[in-house]
Amino acid sequence: MRIGILALQGAFIEHEKILEKLGVESFEIRQKKDIEGQMDGIIIPGGESTVIGKLLRELDILEDLKNMINDGMPVFGTCAGMIILADKIENDEKVHIGTMDITVKRNAYGRQLGSFYSEENFDNIGKVPMTFIRAPYITECGPKARAIATCNGNIVAAVQDNQMVTSFHPELNDSLLVHKYFVEEICK
Ligand code: GLN
Repeated sequence: MRIGILALQGAFIEHEKILEKLGVESFEIRQKKDIEGQMDGIIIPGGESTVIGKLLRELDILEDLKNMINDGMPVFGTCAGMIILADKIENDEKVHIGTMDITVKRNAYGRQLGSFYSEENFDNIGKVPMTFIRAPYITECGPKARAIATCNGNIVAAVQDNQMVTSFHPELNDSLLVHKYFVEEICK
């Protein structure tokens, strides 16, 4: 298995390290030619969604990624990556890849509560560590998507066929559980 990690901005190296611990090969996506090779899944990391969206457009890979995901390419978006995949953003006019049937709110916990940590149930795998950094959450899961984790009553993870998103940063904790779930349940 070979997973491409979008490496334009934000927390991508941490994803590489987690995949390495799982024994999964990864490579960095930095330009258009990087998505031409064989791959079994894509990770869109956290960072700043406006910046990542702008770079995806400038590098002319936004539409390619959108088509690949619509054709079934497994994708995992964390934090800003979740915003990039959402088809509606409550407090931003610009939708980016927009393949997932969810409405998200950026910086949903407010600027004061920039970062926090919690441990919550994640689908059928039990409690996982969750690190939130100026995180969005899902205000509405459309009929195509399914919520798989909540924190303080807000939806913080969802899946939709070949797509998976988390508000939090699973790559910033030692647990391999969430990435293992992506590899085993979404990339299968
Ligand atoms: N606040 C960022 C945004 O709106 C997301 C933060 C993150 O990815 N940690 O894009």
